Amino acid sequence: MGMTVPIIRENTLELIGNTPLVRLKGPSEAAGCEIFGKCEFTNPGASVKDRAALWIVRDAEARGELKPGGTVVEGTAGNTGIGIALVANARGYKTVIVMPDNQSKEKMDTLRALGAELVLVPPTKFADPNHFVHTSRRLAEETPGAVWANQFDNIANRKAHIESTAPELWEQMEGRIDGFTCAAGTGGTIAGVGMGLKEFDETITIAITDPHGAALYSYFASGELKAEGSSVAEGIGQGRITANLEGAPIDTQFRISDEEGMEWVARLLREEGLCLGLSSGINVAGAIALGKELKASGKERPRVATILCDTGFRYLSTLYNADWLRSKDLPVFDWLREGSSAST
Ligand code: PMP
Repeated sequence: MGMTVPIIRENTLELIGNTPLVRLKGPSEAAGCEIFGKCEFTNPGASVKDRAALWIVRDAEARGELKPGGTVVEGTAGNTGIGIALVANARGYKTVIVMPDNQSKEKMDTLRALGAELVLVPPTKFADPNHFVHTSRRLAEETPGAVWANQFDNIANRKAHIESTAPELWEQMEGRIDGFTCAAGTGGTIAGVGMGLKEFDETITIAITDPHGAALYSYFASGELKAEGSSVAEGIGQGRITANLEGAPIDTQFRISDEEGMEWVARLLREEGLCLGLSSGINVAGAIALGKELKASGKERPRVATILCDTGFRYLSTLYNADWLRSKDLPVFDWLREGSSAST
């Protein structure tokens, strides 16, 4: 393609971003469109959140808040913490992560393995002062030389996607992109990619794909923050308009169930050899819905991109575990039905 491929990246932080984009065969056929997935699981921390971590740390350095030997404190469902721990190690900082104790064991083990100090708290409402986000803010305030990453309301998060993910997508799709969609945790990805893509082409449709149990579908559909149902998907599902979501250019919205997301997780694994987390499956289902909608509005073979947020290897004890799925009343993947941990 005449593109210059950098042979050597000058330092490990340059391994973040510049992720491949892949055409997804099954989803493209199902939608009668071209559906593309941005392979964020190829980041060093195996998730989309490495980008936010890098931008947040660099921003704190640039503002003079983070000095050599300092500490980065964050409240996170896991992936942001993994990204921060890697970036902090590379830049010589300590990491303290506050996490709800219902997240996957793999994420907790990974954070400990990376050398982060892990503080587990019970899951609770955002209004509760013991919520993991508020706990992390207090810890940052109490720790000398510490900064609070504050991924939800620190817009260095969405800036990562305005400045890296969006231009990468634009270039990889050669400027031919009709729609983009993904789910929101902090909202950094959907807002940042949406804003960045609209700078290239105002007519690209930006859709938010919300899981059940989150309030953004209803917010963008009717202006009311109202949640319905529930979801076991980690890392997504937001109940408020975070600073990262403020002014996000959302044109339309979809709501996708865990079962539908799991169907695509299963198909992508069995038919295309991709092992992903549930938020990626929900994103792909959203991309199919967006593709169909663009097609119905007269667009011929629309080209839609979404995010493959993290690796399924992070969920071996949950999404890929028959007993866990049964305990959540979710369907068990066919190939896990025999030889589940019950028989070992
Ligand atoms: N999927 C997973 C697995 C995540 O960890 C996150 C991060 N919270 C997201 C999706 C959503 O990304 P964002 O925070 O940029 O909305």
